[in-house]
Amino acid sequence: MKSRTLAAMSTSAVAVAAIAFAAGWSAQRAPVANAAGAPNAGIPGPVNPLWHDGKIKNYLPYMSWPEVDALLKKSDMVIIPVGAMEQHGLGGPIGTDYLNGTQRALLVAQQTDALVAPILIPGQSPYHLEFPGSIALSSETVERVYFEAAQSLIKQGFRRFLFLNSHAGNNAITSFIVDRINQETVAVAVELGAAAATMRQPGGGGRSADDAGNFDRHGGVGETSASLYLTPGLYDQSVARPAKLTYPPHLAALVPKLKAGDRAAELVFLAETLKGTVTGKRTSTREMSDTGSWSELDPKTATAEAGRRATESFVTSAVAFINHWKELRPLGANGSN
Ligand SMILES: [Zn+2]
Repeated sequence: MKSRTLAAMSTSAVAVAAIAFAAGWSAQRAPVANAAGAPNAGIPGPVNPLWHDGKIKNYLPYMSWPEVDALLKKSDMVIIPVGAMEQHGLGGPIGTDYLNGTQRALLVAQQTDALVAPILIPGQSPYHLEFPGSIALSSETVERVYFEAAQSLIKQGFRRFLFLNSHAGNNAITSFIVDRINQETVAVAVELGAAAATMRQPGGGGRSADDAGNFDRHGGVGETSASLYLTPGLYDQSVARPAKLTYPPHLAALVPKLKAGDRAAELVFLAETLKGTVTGKRTSTREMSDTGSWSELDPKTATAEAGRRATESFVTSAVAFINHWKELRPLGANGSN
């Protein structure tokens, strides 16, 4: 199997974005997919002008079954991104959570033998539906789809599942999927975010804007920085601006307290905010933010460099966890292969 290195992957993505920008590229013009330096260079044409991807190591949708079979001889691990299809402010792509989660999973997989199996694009996002393009599924549907997908892979010999959630609205669902696999099947599952955190070096990745006392969440500077690094060319920073945030008075009164570090205030604030209009709480994103971002910072200040630092900190910790798990429990120790 021909696989691309981590460095080649990010370089080619940036090169493609640069070519697209320079050429004012559109589907009707400039078939650059097999041009020199593009991922498909050397492939005899004609080629689909929209296709800019090359083979990516361990990315299930691009693999043949013999390649999956060969991987199973080396590894029983699957990374499953859990994402969402929801608005991300004025400049952010609707697929941000799905795209960023999948890219993080792939970056981890380039340094390990784990398979990356994206299952579903939408997640639980009922509180974004007042912005066009957002799609929400019920928690029951999301949980059932991922569990049944895991059952397919368990039948074929995969035994260790690492769920990588990239959308806070899926936190409880992801925990439930992990628990169902552990309670009801021969396989073992963990949440990769929590797993990676066990390996994180103190101070690794620097302080996020949110950690530094600024309110910066959905579609804010942290997430935008990640997008600028992980999916260059998809975020339009030229249209980004700070959101005007409004809350019902009893919640507005909590904001200074949580920013001052009152964890209890933060807990009850988050319990009531980002909820669908059906609840009557007046805390859907449309009701709290005029742009759809939930941050007091300006997304224009986001940088790809900050996104790179945060990404690499996570990837390093996640790879360390996977390597450590392989030592703690070698392949075949729980009934696989
Ligand atoms: Zn997001």
